[in-house]
Amino acid sequence: MRASHFLIKYGEIAVKGKNRNVFEDALRKQMRIALSRVDGTFNIEKRSGRFFIHCEDDFDYDGALAALQKVFGIVGICPVYVFEDEGVDTLKKDVCSFWREVYGDKEMTFKVKARRSNKKYPLDSMQINMLLGEVLLDEFDSIKVDVHHPQATVYVEVREKIYIYSTIIPGAGGMPVGTAGKAMLLLSGGIDSPVAGVRIAKRGANLEAVYFHAPPYTSERAKEKVIDLARIMSEYAGEFKLHVVNFTEIQLAIYEKCPHDELTIIMRRYMMRIAEMFALESGCLGLVTGESIGQVASQTMQSLRATNDVCTLPVYRPLIGFDKQEIIDEAERIGTFETSILPYEDCCTIFVAKHPATKPEVDAIRKSETALGEEIDQMVKSAVASAETIRIRPGMA
Ligand code: ATP
Ligand code: MG
Repeated sequence: MRASHFLIKYGEIAVKGKNRNVFEDALRKQMRIALSRVDGTFNIEKRSGRFFIHCEDDFDYDGALAALQKVFGIVGICPVYVFEDEGVDTLKKDVCSFWREVYGDKEMTFKVKARRSNKKYPLDSMQINMLLGEVLLDEFDSIKVDVHHPQATVYVEVREKIYIYSTIIPGAGGMPVGTAGKAMLLLSGGIDSPVAGVRIAKRGANLEAVYFHAPPYTSERAKEKVIDLARIMSEYAGEFKLHVVNFTEIQLAIYEKCPHDELTIIMRRYMMRIAEMFALESGCLGLVTGESIGQVASQTMQSLRATNDVCTLPVYRPLIGFDKQEIIDEAERIGTFETSILPYEDCCTIFVAKHPATKPEVDAIRKSETALGEEIDQMVKSAVASAETIRIRPGMA
């Protein structure tokens, strides 16, 4: 015997008033997308402030659960055992099979909480609670009733069939993707930016991303790694576009014409400028980076200010207050860490100075950039025009 349905619980606060429909529609859509890559046929039904997912006979239980655990907006997932309504005696047997399957002989306290939607059923909710409580006590020596603080609450819903569940598996929380607008992520092959992107998606944002590569200084494998990271992210964030920008010419120009201790900052400013062009083009409401204060020279507050100086859109930095270890823990949780630490070079590591400026002055940086002349604008234009756009989706090869 195994659960054949899932009951989906979502947060209460987010769904007040007219937001409710937007939230529920987005959640339903994201669940449908997540389940579309799982073996089985799934039917999603909304029922009194929760979703019920009916799974047809032959379905991949673990796959379905794993997919649902990546859908933002879900607070809890309850595996539901469904029984035909064949009278009260059968119900007694069914509740015992349920308990044996889920808890076996574990010592526990419990209570039964019935809800009768089928008003023709011969017993009312109170009677069902009493009856099934007694049946379970008779059948299992290891359990006791505790109506106030039970370790297990056995929910029994009597409808056209009987639905029994008691386990709540935690969901990912957050808001369903598609409820917040779109953001442009600067996605590198590192540990931080994939985590930052998933964090923003968790608040309901759709993503788009831009990756700067510098062939031949960075390899095709470094680019493949970024595509891999994007694919893992898409299991949470849904489909998105990744723009791959050739940054070599710009990077070489900066290397040649600007003070070496300012290379990283100036490079980062050009990345932000270009990312913002893509963002405005596709209606994004902000940029997203994986920066955190003080992590490296280019992420001191002075450096962040100098980077921010070139942007008109808000720059969201969801990891700003995270320690590296906290970011690593989250990368492991979401499944990007193993890919992030593959040793392919990043375009920034080739051109780094031995002693990068840690307290750049905005005015000085602006002045240094003037050495790039008007040619840089042309280079930016052609980098944008020649970008390759890749459609990222879960399960892509
Ligand atoms: P990450 O682990 O995300 O690469 P990092 O600690 O290596 O971060 P930096 O290299 O200073 O930090 O980059 C800071 C942020 O700038 C990154 O989090 C990312 O958002 C963006 N970024 C850096 N390099 C690139 C790149 N090649 N393409 C796109 N974005 C980049
Ligand atoms: Mg990096």
